[in-house]
Amino acid sequence: MLELRPACEHCSKPLPPASLDARICSYECTFCAACVETVLANVCPNCGGGFVPRPIRPSKNWKGDNYLGKDPASTKVKHRPVDPAVHAAFSSAIRPIPPEKR
Ligand SMILES: [Zn+2]
Ligand SMILES: [Zn+2]
Repeated sequence: MLELRPACEHCSKPLPPASLDARICSYECTFCAACVETVLANVCPNCGGGFVPRPIRPSKNWKGDNYLGKDPASTKVKHRPVDPAVHAAFSSAIRPIPPEKR
């Protein structure tokens, strides 16, 4: 189950569970859309993978207790800001490769 982390790891922008602005990699490294585009160039600084929009967990109990009331979003902030120069060096060879071929 996704943790639904509460904020962008780079800029700390709040990313509540219903945010359309949250992006995650396959390890659930979590950033806002602006940081993924402008700072990360769609390369995760922790694994090198690409990002996708984070799915929204329903706030209502439509079926079988599968909703935020039973499985709330994480409140544990992970703040691991990226050094743009370090990330540029790390991501330069990865960036041109589409995520499905990395
Ligand atoms: Zn951000
Ligand atoms: Zn990652």
